[in-house]
Amino acid sequence: MSGTRRLHPETLAVHLGLESDAATGALIPPIHLSTTFERNPDGSYPHGFVYSRAGNPTRAALERALALLQGATEAAAFASGSAAAAAVFRALPAGSHVVVPRDMYHGIRVLLREHLEPAGLRVSEIDQRDLGALGAAITDDTRLIWVETPSNPMLHVTDVAGVVELARRQKGRVEVAVDATWTPPTWADPIGLGVDLVVHATTKYLSGHSDVLGGAVLAARRSETFERIRAIQVHEGAVPSPFECWLTLRGLRTLPHRLRAQAENAAAVAASLVGHDAVTAVHYPGLPEHPGYPIAARQMREAGGMLSIQVAGGEAAAVQVAGAVRLWRRATSLGGVESLIEHRAGVEPEGSATPRDLLRLSLGIEHHEDLVADLAQALSQAGTGA
Ligand SMILES: *Cc1c(COP(=O)(O)O)cnc(C)c1O
Repeated sequence: MSGTRRLHPETLAVHLGLESDAATGALIPPIHLSTTFERNPDGSYPHGFVYSRAGNPTRAALERALALLQGATEAAAFASGSAAAAAVFRALPAGSHVVVPRDMYHGIRVLLREHLEPAGLRVSEIDQRDLGALGAAITDDTRLIWVETPSNPMLHVTDVAGVVELARRQKGRVEVAVDATWTPPTWADPIGLGVDLVVHATTKYLSGHSDVLGGAVLAARRSETFERIRAIQVHEGAVPSPFECWLTLRGLRTLPHRLRAQAENAAAVAASLVGHDAVTAVHYPGLPEHPGYPIAARQMREAGGMLSIQVAGGEAAAVQVAGAVRLWRRATSLGGVESLIEHRAGVEPEGSATPRDLLRLSLGIEHHEDLVADLAQALSQAGTGA
């Protein structure tokens, strides 16, 4: 696939990993279930594969495809987004300090607080919209800045190029990792903005059909940190099965088209809710009145497929609205082809800062008029005072 970087993402996505099977001519790559690979009489391995924890052809095809789409040189696939994130933090030297966002995916925060901090990682939670505060949080022991933008579930937008500039002032000591689960390629290009590592829950947009759990760490270049992440992957084996790798590869082929539909739907639904009597706030960085709009417009090609709203009438009304939809599905997660609605505080741990009246919406690829109409009837039924 050399020279393919100049192809458009739609074309690249379709042809990723379609290196026809030399043995059979099969257009679509097979699923390699074998855990072990046979040696030549001289003891060498003809294709470089030895044992599937260390390397598997289907997983290797997925890693190549993900790297190509992201503009990365290295990729390591994991069994979940959480396993991928954990590998990044655990690859840092003992006693490291990291800076993470205050508003972030609650699962990673739990991982940090309950597992990684007790093991010696030092963590500062900072509102990363404020680059001054972020800069002030950097110490001599800081090794990583972890960014999530737009953040989950408040859709805060962080200036990725600004974070990279702050990190570079530390003379190579501080790396930047972006959890890009909410901004898969082509919605954003964090490596183009200078970040070192990109993490995805492939569970979400990349596989795209709510039927695979997976994660990946992608690196702008080979580095000591990435080598340790690779070692954690190989030695611990928190890897996706060949079937899950294959499903994710299949999902990737339609990624650019799904994303376009999802961003269009998010914009349409957000616009329909602005000024609605039953809605007190619409958090979507594609709206010009969103505080993160100017930065989002600069660093994202589209404003994404996620939005949060706050409902007049508080938590009870929010739960009622989620209960009154007919087309939207009431479920957590995101990025699938079906639209989801979720009372977010209800799924996060006790004490989370998420407003109790907040509903998080993940846009699918249905027609936006059907989504807007269903949400409108749910909002009119609930006790929102509207
Ligand atoms: C879902 C998600 C994760 C974790 O992914 P899993 O596959 O569920 O472990 C990490 N970050 C973000 C932003 C997510 O939405």
